[in-house]
Amino acid sequence: MNQLIVSCPQCGTEVIWNEAATWRPFCSDRCRLIDLGAWLDESHRIPDRAPASLPEPETEAPQ
Ligand SMILES: [Zn+2]
Repeated sequence: MNQLIVSCPQCGTEVIWNEAATWRPFCSDRCRLIDLGAWLDESHRIPDRAPASLPEPETEAPQ
């Protein structure tokens, strides 16, 4: 029987990848929520900056 062991992306704890590991690849619900929260925080920042750099289509008049 092969046993797959992964490292928790949040804290690095080794997690045995099987049906008992409910929060895989995380070691626990807590680490999963921390990672999810960080990810959502990142995605909230992107839309704040993106619209500012939209160019005006009619800035340069053709001859
Ligand atoms: Zn963890």
